[in-house]
Amino acid sequence: MTTSGAAGPIDLPRPTEPTDPAPAERADGGDTHVTLSLAPTPAVPIDLPTTAATAIDASASAPDIVFDVTDFAAYYGNFRAVRDIQMRIAKNRITAFIGPSGCGKSTLLRCFNRMNDLIPGTRVSGSIMFHGQDLYGPDVDAVAVRKRIGMVFQKPNPFPKSIYDNVAYGPRINGAKGNLDDLVEASLRRAAIWDEVKDKLKQPGTALSGGQQQRLCIARAIAVEPDVILMDEPCSALDPVATLRIEELMAELRETYTIVIVTHNMQQAARASDETVFLTMGDDRAGYIVEKGPTIDIFTRPANQLTEDYVSGRFG
Ligand code: ADP
Repeated sequence: MTTSGAAGPIDLPRPTEPTDPAPAERADGGDTHVTLSLAPTPAVPIDLPTTAATAIDASASAPDIVFDVTDFAAYYGNFRAVRDIQMRIAKNRITAFIGPSGCGKSTLLRCFNRMNDLIPGTRVSGSIMFHGQDLYGPDVDAVAVRKRIGMVFQKPNPFPKSIYDNVAYGPRINGAKGNLDDLVEASLRRAAIWDEVKDKLKQPGTALSGGQQQRLCIARAIAVEPDVILMDEPCSALDPVATLRIEELMAELRETYTIVIVTHNMQQAARASDETVFLTMGDDRAGYIVEKGPTIDIFTRPANQLTEDYVSGRFG
């Protein structure tokens, strides 16, 4: 990875001003998505160790824009997997990446928390600004990035530990002090699984059903108090009931977090997201964005024929 810096941790800014949710790329200002009024569980303060932070000007970007991507490309060796990515992702919205298999959705998603750095031979060009700070800047520590931008994977992957320890793991390695019981409970409540597991917190996370395991993984991601949750096809291994439960949970989590989801399920994108980004790939197999905008527009009146063909099932 050419862009990984060995520099010390950086204290990425946390926006504090609540803002009205606004779509990242809006064609006409229409917003038909209904925001659920479920109140998020109040955050449990945890005492993370302070780092030798580089001062960041939090006002450097509009407060409701979380990610601002410019001329971005990602490579595996010489192979360019995505190219010419321009997009903005707004706070407290659910943004879905859709497109045919292999067009680079997961690759692009993993670049949002530098998870792709972990794959040997990868590199990127262009920029992803996170609250005004270049995620790939020379002073940015990728580990610190992943604390602020969590990830939930396709296959639920609880650690071979108890339910409690799965959730407490991240805060512990981050040096959290204070009452971890409260933090574990708050995280499990926010992930809508507390009632199902509160009497068996010492049992292995792996003994839960697939849908419960995925909600446990969401609780684990939440426990380190991220700003953003990236979800890479989080329901592809789940049955329809468990899938609906995760979608309902996403709608609740959107009150507190910004969510970016890759899905191959177009009904899911249509049901669960506010904004949709449609990618496809050219002859060189490099993925690029065809169209992005409010989900309602992408699915009911796409501007591009390629989008229309894809969302209507004629291609892909
Ligand atoms: P999608 O999520 O849209 O199915 P991916 O991001 O998984 O697409 O893959 C995009 C392209 O990058 C594909 O051509 C795939 O073969 C390639 N790719 C994905 N992961 C790797 C990897 N670890 N090493 C090399 N090529 C990869």
